[in-house]
Amino acid sequence: MSDTLSQPSVLPADPSWWFADAMAQEAGLPPPVPLTGEITADVAIVGGGYTGLWTALALKARKPSLSIALIEARLCGSGASGKSGAKVHGYWASLAGMSQSIGEDAALAVARAGTVAQDAIRAFATAPGRDVWWREAGNIRVSASPAQDAKIAGYVDTARRLGVPDSARPLSAAEVAGYCRSPAFRAGVFLQEGANVHAARLARALRRAAIDAGVMLYENTPMTGLDKGTPNRVRTPKGQIIAREVVLATNVDLARERLIKPHVTVFSSFALMTEPAPEKLAAMGWTGDQGISDMRMFVHYFRKTIDGRVLMGSGSGPISYDGDTASPRLTQDSASALRAERGLRRLLPGLNDVKVAKAWGGAIDISADRLPFFKTMPGTRVHYACGYSGHGVNPTYIGGQCLASLVLDEKDMWSSLPLCTRDVPNLPLEPFRYYGGRAIRRAVLACEDAEERNRPAPVIASMVAAIPRVFGLKIGTR
Ligand SMILES: Cc1cc2nc3c(=O)[nH]c(=O)nc-3n(C[C@H](O)[C@H](O)[C@H](O)COP(=O)(O)OP(=O)(O)OC[C@H]3O[C@@H](n4cnc5c(N)ncnc54)[C@H](O)[C@@H]3O)c2cc1C
Repeated sequence: MSDTLSQPSVLPADPSWWFADAMAQEAGLPPPVPLTGEITADVAIVGGGYTGLWTALALKARKPSLSIALIEARLCGSGASGKSGAKVHGYWASLAGMSQSIGEDAALAVARAGTVAQDAIRAFATAPGRDVWWREAGNIRVSASPAQDAKIAGYVDTARRLGVPDSARPLSAAEVAGYCRSPAFRAGVFLQEGANVHAARLARALRRAAIDAGVMLYENTPMTGLDKGTPNRVRTPKGQIIAREVVLATNVDLARERLIKPHVTVFSSFALMTEPAPEKLAAMGWTGDQGISDMRMFVHYFRKTIDGRVLMGSGSGPISYDGDTASPRLTQDSASALRAERGLRRLLPGLNDVKVAKAWGGAIDISADRLPFFKTMPGTRVHYACGYSGHGVNPTYIGGQCLASLVLDEKDMWSSLPLCTRDVPNLPLEPFRYYGGRAIRRAVLACEDAEERNRPAPVIASMVAAIPRVFGLKIGTR
């Protein structure tokens, strides 16, 4: 059925299913307040996604006397945080790639920080009175074509070599079927650290917690300018914040910033949510809360919700030119939504007659080594987070802690992480970055589509798809 689909049954559009659901829960509450006039604060945070909100909470937890103002251009959680697949895991699954790019010890330090983050997010999400749909049962990566089989060994061998074999356990086809039956699944690897959450309810719960902790929070308040100095001045349409410290937690919108531009490019990811079908999930044996992904480079990521829906995502959306996040293709590309839907029908045929309720897309900030970075602009007290590379639910907690350490000038486990200290590699300059990225994306998609059909990858596409490996690039390498 997946091959016969020529159009997505639902065109991608904002808001995400998550965000619409979260806002419906808040119906009747007072409307958000924009900033008017001038205020002063110790710290101004720009951006009300997970990064900005975790940073505010980390600062308040470490130094309750700090005055903190947070501004969000739209509503907290309306960006990537409220659009994500909301699969929560740290970096154990990235050990192989990280070992190559930052070294084995550094890779283990980042993975351990992810576990600290996972514990903290769990504690937040499961606190009494919070209804953010936290479910934790690990993640499974499945091979869904012969070409993907070899990748399983990469996970398992790296985990054994680094002395953490429990972080990645190989699964036979029968063992995968014990978690979820699909004719497409050939074998897999069980990744112990993994949870699911309601993307936007988590963001909105963080917003509530920040307000309760005393953060001055203003929505519908975009930063229109930043005058760096001592103090800094954050300008907004009807007011300004005078603050000694500024945190830029604006995610993809930082990709055009002069300092950041060399290291980050903007792609996009698309997701759909089905109607509830708990009985069909039970018939497939998918009764646990494990999240699943295939082994494509342009990964299909999928998970259930507590009301028996399935979210299927495809991390294959278009690249933007020069970090432009305003391009409608990043949120409305029907070909990418179609890939998510084809993935749903192929990988989970037991859901073939289940309707798609909603589809959406969002920009993702891909760094040259696919790891985020948390830094201070030289000679200023302006700190920033960028480069989550489509993996941010757990890492934004790390980001919040790192940014808090940078703001407070604390030399601790967070500010010593390679995420704060490493030199992030450069990407090719524009227009090579855009045209090269576009060509490689198309070539990789052509190869992966052919492999799924058990056909040889087209020769020219294979050659183009090999370019990143030939040049030793981490980005775009299959
Ligand atoms: C479709 C999709 C699926 C994903 N799935 C997963 C997943 O399953 N697991 C995972 O770990 N990660 C996933 N991610 C990545 C993850 O969602 C992000 O890395 C993470 O949410 C980033 O959080 P953030 O707070 O840094 O950014 P955002 O949530 O984007 O927050 C930044 C905020 O800054 C605001 N802003 C921007 N400019 C200004 C300005 N000038 N003034 C004021 N405010 C401004 C924006 O409105 C926005 O709300 C996915 C992303 C997408 C798009």
